Amino acid sequence: MILGRPRSINLLVRLLDILLYLNNLMDQGIIENLITSLSKLPGIGRKTAQRLAFFILTMPEEEAKGISRAIDEVKDKARFCKECFNITEDEVCHICSSTSRDKTKLCVVEEPSNILVIERSKSFGGLYHVLLGALSPIDGLTPDRLKINELIDRVRRDSVQEIIIATNPNTKGEMTAQYIREMLKPFNVKVTRIAYGLPIGGDIEFADEVTLSKALEGRREI
Ligand SMILES: [Zn+2]
Repeated sequence: MILGRPRSINLLVRLLDILLYLNNLMDQGIIENLITSLSKLPGIGRKTAQRLAFFILTMPEEEAKGISRAIDEVKDKARFCKECFNITEDEVCHICSSTSRDKTKLCVVEEPSNILVIERSKSFGGLYHVLLGALSPIDGLTPDRLKINELIDRVRRDSVQEIIIATNPNTKGEMTAQYIREMLKPFNVKVTRIAYGLPIGGDIEFADEVTLSKALEGRREI
């Protein structure tokens, strides 16, 4: 009995070691899973995902679970407006269902988040149409993958008089704008493109040549 005791303690210690090892492996798996999930977000590389994962680990439990609940809720309740593809909780978004908006003007944007920015500027009172992306054939984003046919349907169906193309001022946004302009040629609708210009409060001296030449092209009488 006296001789057997150290052996059973050894066995117990060994068992505990194995349990700790397994526990550690499981923990690493969970954290790894969180890191992999976070790195799927745009602009989040693996290093940032690691930092975020460890930040979440040290957050108060209620705050961390609040993030998770907010994601659940968005995925359960949010959907695209059946008219303009803005994000909404209802079938039709609050902009499309408003009676005070100018239904003859449609502003075409790439993403629903663009609507928020334009709305904040309080400079547009018409309706929107979200393409859900920009043309990029190399990434498989062909016209049929965007909401271009739905835009043409709206032009055909509704009393739209002007389409303002507010896609991004980059190669994909330009290509998309040109494509839409071509597709809308058969219709009796005015197609305009938002102007490029210098940032307010900026200095001409620091503007790049493309911005400056576009700003000159988009000049207007004062
Ligand atoms: Zn809408």
